[in-house]
Amino acid sequence: MTKRNSSIVLSNKERAPELGHRMDPHQQFRSKFTQQPGRLLCNHCGAIGFHKRWYVDVAESENLKRTGTAQAVLCPGCTRIDEGIHEGEVILESLLLASDKDALMGLIKHTEGKCWHDNPFARIASIAEEGGRMEIRTTTRWLATRIGKELHKAFKGELEIKPIPREKFVRVYWSQQSPAIGKKESMTGRKGVT
Ligand SMILES: [Zn+2]
Repeated sequence: MTKRNSSIVLSNKERAPELGHRMDPHQQFRSKFTQQPGRLLCNHCGAIGFHKRWYVDVAESENLKRTGTAQAVLCPGCTRIDEGIHEGEVILESLLLASDKDALMGLIKHTEGKCWHDNPFARIASIAEEGGRMEIRTTTRWLATRIGKELHKAFKGELEIKPIPREKFVRVYWSQQSPAIGKKESMTGRKGVT
């Protein structure tokens, strides 16, 4: 550990209040819930919290719900959505929004599902569409980046990923102006899409 006088040199985390950053919901959770024994169950999305870790297990969620053995809470991912805390944005501009929207949305939702299983904090917070443009807000930078990469892999076009580290945010641009869909191998194996 480096020696420094923390009263003089403060990290960004320590300066969070003056920088206008809010406390991460996960930290709030730690202080609120980690002393609780047993499992936590998000009553909105079904994510399970146990020993400072959150994970997704549909069968276990069902069981916990049925037996009422978990403490019902709102998980950090749902809290982020609730409080409008976004770390990523995907901006899509494509004629496919008009010609093949189902395929686009299927891929976007499938990517969200996969990322959510890996990290229950990763969620789509909002989707807004106007004309040939769609804006998707995500609760993690990783999810926004993944959505951009999956769109690019499946439908080609142009992808630009712009991290804004200072703001803990990533802006992802994807555009594809061909009206014909360029489905690729990655579109297979999409079973489980809802
Ligand atoms: Zn949740």
